[in-house]
Amino acid sequence: MIHPDTELRYVSDEIGYGVFATAIIPKGTIVYVKDNLEIEISKYKFRKLDKAYREIVEKFSYIDERGIRIVSWDHAKYVNHRCECNSMSTGYGFEVAIRDILPDEEITDEYGLFNIPYPIDINCGCIDCRKTLLPSDVDNYAETWDLKVLEAIKNLQGVKQPLWDIVDTVTREEIRAFLSGKNEYRSVKNLKYIAQNNVRQLRR
Ligand SMILES: [Zn+2]
Repeated sequence: MIHPDTELRYVSDEIGYGVFATAIIPKGTIVYVKDNLEIEISKYKFRKLDKAYREIVEKFSYIDERGIRIVSWDHAKYVNHRCECNSMSTGYGFEVAIRDILPDEEITDEYGLFNIPYPIDINCGCIDCRKTLLPSDVDNYAETWDLKVLEAIKNLQGVKQPLWDIVDTVTREEIRAFLSGKNEYRSVKNLKYIAQNNVRQLRR
């Protein structure tokens, strides 16, 4: 589920639609939560889909740490990538605003954390645009992204969180424990899907 102060707007013929803030969304605000209503498509189910459906799923989904494709039931599926994004996925299953997002600003995130299976050419127009997203981006940039997420998460309890109740109980406890120094930070590296891995082991 995406933050309530957002709406779908048409960007251009090339890009299609994007998600825009309708009010200020301060740094540290949870922008998106992988909630219980999201549509989950396993690798097996994805392979069994007709080509027409596969194309739709491919366009609108991201792949989570279990290798499952997630298609958002709301307009979260229209968030575009930007190398200089203002929102970023965290190891906690939600996305956080990594700087203040202003009204009418497009909300963008980092597709490098979505387990893309093959290189994807991009044209975001950012100054240091990577031009191509690579499956290995997470290995090369995780530390940089973690720094941004960490800095934003420190603000988590100081800003309004309309999506807080959507975050599952275990994650809420983990976040509280981290913020009070009782638990370690969960890196974005935990979002990486490793085939035949033991995800739980990675999380320790
Ligand atoms: Zn870019």
